[in-house]
Amino acid sequence: MNANSDVDLHGALAWPFFEPRHRELAAGIEAWCRANLSHDGGHKDVDATCRRLVRELGAAGWLKYGVGGVAYGGHGDTIDTRAVCLLRETLAKHSGLADFALAMQGLGSGAISLGGTHEQKARYLPRVANGTAIAAFALSEPEAGSDVAAMTLAAREDGDAYVLDGDKTWISNGGIADFYVVFARTGEAPGARGITAFIVDADTPGLEIAERIDVIAPHPLARLHFAGARVPRSQMLGAPGEGFKLAMRTLDIFRTSVAAASLGFARHAMAEGLSRAASRKMFGQTLGDFQLTQAKLAQMALTIDSSALLVYRAAWLRDQGESVTREAAMAKWHASEGAQQVIDAAMQLFGGMGVQSGTAVEMLYREIRALRIYEGATEVQQLIVGRDLLKAHAAATGGNAK
Ligand SMILES: Cc1cc2nc3c(=O)[nH]c(=O)nc-3n(C[C@H](O)[C@H](O)[C@H](O)COP(=O)(O)OP(=O)(O)OC[C@H]3O[C@@H](n4cnc5c(N)ncnc54)[C@H](O)[C@@H]3O)c2cc1C
Repeated sequence: MNANSDVDLHGALAWPFFEPRHRELAAGIEAWCRANLSHDGGHKDVDATCRRLVRELGAAGWLKYGVGGVAYGGHGDTIDTRAVCLLRETLAKHSGLADFALAMQGLGSGAISLGGTHEQKARYLPRVANGTAIAAFALSEPEAGSDVAAMTLAAREDGDAYVLDGDKTWISNGGIADFYVVFARTGEAPGARGITAFIVDADTPGLEIAERIDVIAPHPLARLHFAGARVPRSQMLGAPGEGFKLAMRTLDIFRTSVAAASLGFARHAMAEGLSRAASRKMFGQTLGDFQLTQAKLAQMALTIDSSALLVYRAAWLRDQGESVTREAAMAKWHASEGAQQVIDAAMQLFGGMGVQSGTAVEMLYREIRALRIYEGATEVQQLIVGRDLLKAHAAATGGNAK
């Protein structure tokens, strides 16, 4: 990590969104990252690296923050969104894979924290929190990504169990997870109201890893195939037909944290860009002496600060118990798109070195790309914001909005 990056997130921790415990947490995770994460990025075996990172993050106590319920190994009784965001921002600044490892424990078990029975929570959450079990969230299908309510993976009731048939794809931690939270069509009603969530252990007969998927910033990813996979009724999460709502409630927490991770990548790029601008000699001057460079750096800083304000507004509001669907969508949209621009600008400052495989900006360029797509692509976030505005307008004026 470049020496220009600092512990206090460029002064953001002084903002009123944070409490003293958040400042302590941010300092703690920064120190841990510096001591434990080498920024080589050249992970040859992502499965082994991810397993190790989950164990280490668990042993150090960081995974507790993504789990709800002190009795089940969580840090608090509800998930502290600001804490999760600070952890992700800092981890992403140091290592995309470490951020991924922490994020997926929270996302993969989020529906259990929110909607699980005591038995389900007691069985899964303590192991997620201490890093001895790996979690995954299986929502997307080959023909149902953005339009998730079009999912077809079927769960058919059969005695005291449900039988699952169909495919899930783009499943992070696919292949290394110990269990998957799977959203399946149970058919109580058409569309979103006919979906139910299940916890499916990875060794369930009938569940197989059909394909491993390689992406530009490698991490464990797979297509899952279910052929007559029998899941006991006791593994159903929440009520039948309530799975879609559970998925959306989970995403409301973790979407803001995707924005926080984007911010971490952008901060790293800013540090790299500043260092390059201050040191690269050209035309008898230094790159940073040129006004064009200063304008570029200023734009990068503006994007980062506006992203940070949106991220921590959404996180703070959620921690106050408010609905944050619009704010989380704005944060994810702005921070992920903004980070891509910041990283691209940093890459430009490096000239040819920017595109050389293995340089920090080149790795960041690959790392940020998927964040503009998963947990709702930018266009989906735009629609969420637009529809919410119209709904609020209709409520205020007595009109109608869909
Ligand atoms: C690296 C990675 C990790 C992932 N991890 C997981 C995981 O752990 N679990 C899981 O369930 N899923 C996961 N996903 C899947 C991810 O959520 C989907 O890829 C995403 O929702 C988009 O779905 P899709 O790929 O089917 O694209 P499509 O739905 O086909 O969308 C294609 C494009 O269409 C555009 N678009 C979408 N809606 C609209 C609209 N209304 N109007 C105009 N344009 C629109 C967007 O630009 C979008 O990128 C992951 C994806 C990636 C890339």
